[in-house]
Amino acid sequence: MFFYDPGRILPKSIRYLCFRISSLNAKRLTKKHDDMLRKAIVTLLLSSSIGFSYGQPSSINPGQRPKLVVGIIVDQMRQEYLLRFYDKFGEGGFKRLMKQGFMARNAHYNYIPTYTGPGHASVYTGATPAMHGIIANDWYSRELKRYVYCAEDTTVTAVGGSESSGQISPRNLMSTTITDQLKMATQGRAKVIGVSIKDRGSALPAGHRADGAYWFDSKTGEMMTSTFYVNELPDWVNAFNAQKLPAQYLGQTWSTLLPIEQYTASMEDDNDYEVVLPKKEAPVFPYDLKKLNEGATNFGLLSVTPFGNSLVLDFAKAALEAEQMGQDGTTDFLAVSFSSTDYVGHSFGAQSVELEDTYLRLDRELSGFLNLLDEQVGENEYLLFLTADHAVVDVPKLLVDANLPGGYLEVSKIAKVIAQDMKSTFGEGEWIENANSEIVLDHELIKKEGKDLREMQRYVAEQLLAHQGIKETFTAADMRENEYTRGQRRLLQMGYNFQRSGDVLYATEPGYLNSGRSRGTSHGTGYNYDTHVPMLFYGWGIKPGSTVAYQSITNIAPTLSMLLNIMLPDGATGQPVEEVFE
Ligand code: ZN
Ligand code: ZN
Ligand code: ZN
Repeated sequence: MFFYDPGRILPKSIRYLCFRISSLNAKRLTKKHDDMLRKAIVTLLLSSSIGFSYGQPSSINPGQRPKLVVGIIVDQMRQEYLLRFYDKFGEGGFKRLMKQGFMARNAHYNYIPTYTGPGHASVYTGATPAMHGIIANDWYSRELKRYVYCAEDTTVTAVGGSESSGQISPRNLMSTTITDQLKMATQGRAKVIGVSIKDRGSALPAGHRADGAYWFDSKTGEMMTSTFYVNELPDWVNAFNAQKLPAQYLGQTWSTLLPIEQYTASMEDDNDYEVVLPKKEAPVFPYDLKKLNEGATNFGLLSVTPFGNSLVLDFAKAALEAEQMGQDGTTDFLAVSFSSTDYVGHSFGAQSVELEDTYLRLDRELSGFLNLLDEQVGENEYLLFLTADHAVVDVPKLLVDANLPGGYLEVSKIAKVIAQDMKSTFGEGEWIENANSEIVLDHELIKKEGKDLREMQRYVAEQLLAHQGIKETFTAADMRENEYTRGQRRLLQMGYNFQRSGDVLYATEPGYLNSGRSRGTSHGTGYNYDTHVPMLFYGWGIKPGSTVAYQSITNIAPTLSMLLNIMLPDGATGQPVEEVFE
């Protein structure tokens, strides 16, 4: 055969003709045959040209790009929510993306720990913390003797908002992002803007060369940025802040969007598993926000309501218009992250009416946003993807009460017990410097006292393993010297960074939370409830379809690189989602 794998891009009928030509080639083609075949091929190519009009995913055409890329991260969203709430979604939001877009149904985070900073970094770099260095939201630095925040940058200051919320940039992110690569590919002409309630949800996706990254300052209620990007707020941001939307949102009552008896995909509104907000007597609707926020000196309450998402969309819409995104010949990139889904999820859990209502509202607002994109940029002129930065475990108390595996452990308390044991084994000294999602030993002290670091790491790992709720433990030496190919140890290794990670790593048993309280929940493990997230591609270059093949979260950025015909981010380890290109 002289055609290289034609089945990849050509319909069956053309494949048959190719075969015919190649078999005929051996003989001599009569002119009649030749003409007939040529005519047939031209007709088929023309009639199948509609199949190529979605864009250029399967052919190579570097000049073709969408006008705009919209990246959407829904903080803490499980893949399962797309299905559980499906019946109550409207046609224009999540359902539009699911039906008209491409849906990877089995997409997962491929490292531990599954937190917000690492999640956003991994989506946009196509790499895991081992590579991009965002190993947690906050990690303990042995050199600085303090926690380092994933998006902190002490060299920059606040622009707008309050001073203490402004030392933010993506400087700790040690790989380029897909947004950086778009900037590089266009000599900086592509406009890149990030927006989120959380600074890390904005700064990490927008990347190192962003035109702007904006986040919510809960102290002043303003959208703000830092001098990493600009020295003063653009006029349109000032105009946005002048509307004082947070105060308006907090002046209303959060009631359920639909009659509450229709929330059959959730448990009873009043239960023992949900956090009771201050000034409330029970975790139930309606939430009179004005009353709850009375006397408050900040706007933090907004984040724990669906209206935090509303504010982010209001701002995204303003940015779209004022910055004229997707309006010229160069592809722009708008990176949006919805944080309120996470705050609501932490407080009320995955089975709460509060959470279901937050998603139903987000669905309606997403529908309006897609309509606006159609209007301003044009239908099929923008490429959109939607995913999450991690998912979440059910409230472990709920699991325990239902006889499911799960429970609580407090690693900082366990570490205190181990630290005491170490004194009798290794002599007096505070050998453990910090204990949280990993354990950090005091290397200086160990060296000074002439102790063996590896022996101590091994000792702590063994001691830790003896406690209930701990499944596996590993030392930094284990991580450096072995190559793990499966299971929790593989996920830990993908999250282990030589420069930043600690001395002892652990994985909990399924359903266990490192927490002392039985209301509310969290995330961070490598189990399916934390790793399985939505992965939807929609719009320019995307044919409707779905796959159940396993996809790692690091596949998103390489998929975008191939769709946009731009370089892969520096450290990307994922692979393009092949089915998107078939
Ligand atoms: Zn998150
Ligand atoms: Zn409730
Ligand atoms: Zn969270």
